[in-house]
Amino acid sequence: MTFKSDIEIAQSTKLKDIREIAAKVGFSEDDIELYGKYKAKVDYNLLKNGSGKKAKLILTTAITPTPAGEGKTTTTIGAADALARLGKKSMVALREPSLGPVFGVKGGAAGGGYSQVVPMEDINLHFTGDIHAITAANNLLAAMVDNHIFQGNALDIDPRRVVWRRALDMNDRQLRSLVDGLGGKANGMPREDGFDITVASEVMAIFCLANDIVDLKNRLAKILVAYDRKGNPITAADIKAQGAMAALLKDALKPNLVQTLEGTPAFVHGGPFANIAHGCNSVIATKMAMQFSDYVVTEAGFGADLGAEKFIDIKCRLAGLKPDAVIIVATVRALKYNGGLPKSELDKEDLDALVKGIPNLLKHVENITQVFKLPAVVAVNRFPQDTDAELKFIEEKCNELGVNVAISEVWAKGGEGGIALAEELLRLIEQNEGKDQKLSFAYELDIPIKEKIRAISQKIYGADDVVFTDKAAKEIDNFEKLGYGNLPVCMAKTQYSLSDDPKKLGRPTGFNITVRDVTLSAGAGFLVAVTGDIMKMPGLPKVPAAEKIDVDEKGVISGLF
Ligand code: ADP
Ligand code: MG
Repeated sequence: MTFKSDIEIAQSTKLKDIREIAAKVGFSEDDIELYGKYKAKVDYNLLKNGSGKKAKLILTTAITPTPAGEGKTTTTIGAADALARLGKKSMVALREPSLGPVFGVKGGAAGGGYSQVVPMEDINLHFTGDIHAITAANNLLAAMVDNHIFQGNALDIDPRRVVWRRALDMNDRQLRSLVDGLGGKANGMPREDGFDITVASEVMAIFCLANDIVDLKNRLAKILVAYDRKGNPITAADIKAQGAMAALLKDALKPNLVQTLEGTPAFVHGGPFANIAHGCNSVIATKMAMQFSDYVVTEAGFGADLGAEKFIDIKCRLAGLKPDAVIIVATVRALKYNGGLPKSELDKEDLDALVKGIPNLLKHVENITQVFKLPAVVAVNRFPQDTDAELKFIEEKCNELGVNVAISEVWAKGGEGGIALAEELLRLIEQNEGKDQKLSFAYELDIPIKEKIRAISQKIYGADDVVFTDKAAKEIDNFEKLGYGNLPVCMAKTQYSLSDDPKKLGRPTGFNITVRDVTLSAGAGFLVAVTGDIMKMPGLPKVPAAEKIDVDEKGVISGLF
């Protein structure tokens, strides 16, 4: 069997004029700014004059992923298309792809097969320039901090304690750690510095959590950039950078409207990774979609230990949202991989490997239904090689936990392949209608920082305990003294394991989580706990996806996936 590639499917589909999609949502021509024929930005002020109407919110999350991704984005899009086929007014809310994975291992993040958002080339490359704007805002602050030091350092900043780093939306390990400001007195103050990938920048997190432009500016003002020689924090406001940073982000902050291959309206806006950042699209896009439709399907990155945990404990808590139902995406292949089967053998039926791998899925299901107490459905994202025996086994095991399984064929068939999933979502939502209990979190905010990290590690990851390095313990102490002890914690952890060791597959037990550093994102409003070897600037693999990407004389791009 040969299949058309994602980009071939996307390029062979006739797109609707974006004004038609906007009209379908209920946006007037004045509400939108056109970025060509198929993309538009929507005025965020619409949120202020909103009717207060709230759509049902459906979160898509997944099992522990393999390097290729498990089909969360594909399933998110397919579920929204399927709801539309059932006559519901649905919308998609997704993150903007980072160039790091596009040119690295994973490829794009605009869905796959017949469940994609389009134009996929634009969405996966520069799109409407939001990520570049975020890079620019990040680096403006960096330039202003170093310039302040150069110009006499009135704030007495300790150059060894500048914590604000530079950013670039590229996997470039060469820039992880460096010394800059070399070349003598006229060329700045030499100091240790480094770059993070833009999607790990606090500016990206702030952008995604801001309610409006004023909130954005207030949050930017609070960014911790350095300490002075007495150990007092220096913020972006001390550097007077927040106004210019917000000015750079003014247009970026407007959600981007695009469409699925089936013409369902989709917001693609903001894009932090879930392993090194909080992992979901902007609050503005989610809220706007909820105001203008009846069902919003949104994705949180990587596995439920990272994406869903942060979606709930950080985004929902800060924005006052609550998912009405959760889709947990699993694939037979990834479960077999989690059961220890090598990548080369995933195409063959192997129930033994599935038996070994399924505890991973069950742990994620337990986290969603028992820790966060949310209604869930497992969507098995069907691959052509999956056998009936394998699918049946997964269904039985999930049913034992009281959760239904929907076999999803949205990759092969678009919305039509997601009808069973959409019907189960509607059933779950109806069943829980009116119950509206408060959202359960993995931890409350008023406990000590170490206890929050311990709660996430034990309840969500299944760890025995947490080990804090001296550096991490010192930072925690420092932040508690400075009055930041009541913030939520954003874990920076590998996506490839429930533990902090990417080699521990399945449902590991008998492990500790080691926190080696804790940093403050005062503007975003969380602390970041860094575990294992996780890097805020990834590198490219031996054979980067970039080697296969090309553009022809007509300007048609190929090789994106
Ligand atoms: P995630 O959001 O979980 O990272 P994606 O939805 O981006 O995953 O899918 C990752 C890749 O896998 C895409 O290139 C997509 O085309 C492919 N894919 C997803 N589902 C299927 C499927 N059922 N069969 C074959 N390929 C698939
Ligand atoms: Mg995705």
